[in-house]
Amino acid sequence: MGVKSKIVIGNWKMNGSAELVESFTRTMLDNQAAYAGIRVVLCPPFTLLQAMADALEGGPILLGAQNVSEFEQGAHTGEISAPMLASMGTKMVIIGHSERRASRGENDRIIAAKVKQALSVGMLPVLCVGETAEEKARGDSGAVVWQQLSVVLHAIGSELFGQLIVAYEPIWAIGSGSTASTDDILTITTAIHAKLAQLGIQLPLLYGGSVNAGNAAQISSLPTISGLLVGGASLQAGQFLLLCSNT
Ligand code: PGA
Repeated sequence: MGVKSKIVIGNWKMNGSAELVESFTRTMLDNQAAYAGIRVVLCPPFTLLQAMADALEGGPILLGAQNVSEFEQGAHTGEISAPMLASMGTKMVIIGHSERRASRGENDRIIAAKVKQALSVGMLPVLCVGETAEEKARGDSGAVVWQQLSVVLHAIGSELFGQLIVAYEPIWAIGSGSTASTDDILTITTAIHAKLAQLGIQLPLLYGGSVNAGNAAQISSLPTISGLLVGGASLQAGQFLLLCSNT
């Protein structure tokens, strides 16, 4: 994944239908000029992955998943493994999203195991980190984010860690309609880049949290930002196309 081209990832969360896959991908594939030079990834729910894979086949948009099991195979009812996702053509997987950390009990140990599973089959992990509103109010954003990153870093080592994409997603900004300020995004992401650089690691950093067609240009033009992770604004093809063309 070249660091130079911007990345826009659409995370549909627990939304969508076969009809949406069909109409959404048709609009995206009919308007490729809007995202020329940008890597677009779509992450539908598991049940729509195959339909999305079929619809995107041969085109420029990559298929992503929203989660992966920390186990490789076996007696894990309800889980979906990295080899299963890879066999469907999934190129990327979101790991450690704050919604999963908060409501599915995912801790840093589980998240590190998921990262390893994804990398073992050549899927690119997008590791999500971010602070709560309380942590931000205490001035702890940088420390919290670094703690989340360093647990995974120590679990997998710097060589593997350098293969990740990291998404900075302040939890209070997700789905709230208010993004972090560009100053705050710049401060946090500059600090992450600097700490990683001391370890010889350079990787793409994305921003996520209430990104839309109106604010995509400003956020994605920050020098520390390689792209955007988009939730709500990735569910409507026209809006998502505009967002991509503004990135
Ligand atoms: P949002 O979600 O764009 O709806 O805020 C972003 C995310 O959860 O990745």
